[in-house]
Amino acid sequence: MTKISQYNMPHRPAFLDQLRQACATIGDGYLGLILLDIKGFVRINAAFGIEAGDELLQAITIRLRTANIKGATIERIGNDEFGVILRNLQAPQFITLAAHKILRVLTEPFSIGERLIRISANLGLDVADEESAHPERMLRLGEDSLQKAKASGKPFLPYDKTKHQEAHDWRLESELLKSMESNDLELYYQPKLQLATGLPIAAEALGRWPHPERGVIGPVRFVPMLEQSGAIYDYTKWAIHTALRQMSEWPSLGMEYSVSVNVSASVLEEPEFPSLVAAALNIWGVKPSSLMLEITEGAIVQEEHTSFETLRLLKELGLRLSIDDFGTGYSCLAYFKNLPADELKIDKSFIDNMLRDQEDQHLVQVMIQLGKRFGHQVVAEGIEDQATFDLLKELGCDYIQGYHVARPMPQAKYIEWLKQLTDSE
Ligand code: C2E
Ligand code: MG
Ligand code: MG
Repeated sequence: MTKISQYNMPHRPAFLDQLRQACATIGDGYLGLILLDIKGFVRINAAFGIEAGDELLQAITIRLRTANIKGATIERIGNDEFGVILRNLQAPQFITLAAHKILRVLTEPFSIGERLIRISANLGLDVADEESAHPERMLRLGEDSLQKAKASGKPFLPYDKTKHQEAHDWRLESELLKSMESNDLELYYQPKLQLATGLPIAAEALGRWPHPERGVIGPVRFVPMLEQSGAIYDYTKWAIHTALRQMSEWPSLGMEYSVSVNVSASVLEEPEFPSLVAAALNIWGVKPSSLMLEITEGAIVQEEHTSFETLRLLKELGLRLSIDDFGTGYSCLAYFKNLPADELKIDKSFIDNMLRDQEDQHLVQVMIQLGKRFGHQVVAEGIEDQATFDLLKELGCDYIQGYHVARPMPQAKYIEWLKQLTDSE
């Protein structure tokens, strides 16, 4: 009996202590965590009885501990869950070797009483270095990886380098949240040239994070961090308020401006989002039709049900909606027909190749016609040369955005750029 309790009592607090200690003394190498979950253990218990189940768990513990996995501490941490700490990994991907070894030692059947029982398991993996090693965070990421493995039907998901990159971003993420609090983020503006008038009467606001050591960090890097940390909603609120406020400082071109702000799928899911937008328009006294929200086609397709309702509410406010990166999100035509959009932005990837690739040129042509057929204005993004510019004009595109017209600029520079334009007229 003592033997059983020694091996079989879940030791979660003790395991957490050991993990904490391992994190604190990590040194130069990497620390690995593997969470192991026995598949269908409830059924094993039901079929063979609880005593046999206990015996099996004990046998698993012994087998794992005698498998000679280098640097490993193994503990039972839940009913049918085990935790493995791997100290001194030379490289993050070495955790995969340990995972294969664990699965290998478990494939041999266990003889419990008179019976032979076969088991299989799912594993969740995480690796940390000195900077990213926090016990609770490692457990969370390990659990996340375990759930993903279960959902994918694979024993475990191979540890990939990008994951480690994410772990590295831990410090950057907290710096980002601090920068947001101290109002250090900025919006850059990139003009959208209206071809009919030749005037940049619209602009897209693009987030920038001026980092004291790393230079200006772009949204491709920091938006995912905002999403992960749950700060994307506050950020979007800031972006909408800032764009509406700054727009009133632009020199007059004799026509009304419109400003576009990018909105992620997760923000659209927030039921209060439409009232946030309404309040911002109200505070800055901007006509709703002067604000455009850009939502990627992928986000709309992904969040079909929630986003349609939110999009409808936003439309009721009188603002305008743009489908960003159009052509990359695989929406079908029947679906497209019902989108309450005003603008369609053809993705840069089609624009890039259209001079060289006849098929891409046809696709762009079809997208322009499609957009117009449904009453949307059509924007082409990422134009880098005159030849592409001319071709798009010929094809009947309404707006052009790209480095060929101008790069995204900070507010002060953007005002300068607009002034030069009005002076030279
Ligand atoms: P997007 O909305 O499709 O924005 C266009 C991106 O293409 C911008 O990159 C812009 O700087 C870049 N670009 C424009 N013209 C050219 C060109 O001629 N050549 C090349 N090579 N690039 C060009 P950026 O600013 O890095 O933004 C990347 C993406 O991040 C945006 O793609 C948008 O989806 C997202 N994003 C930007 N700001 C925000 C934001 O405030 N909130 C959210 N949720 N996403 C944002
Ligand atoms: Mg955009
Ligand atoms: Mg785009």
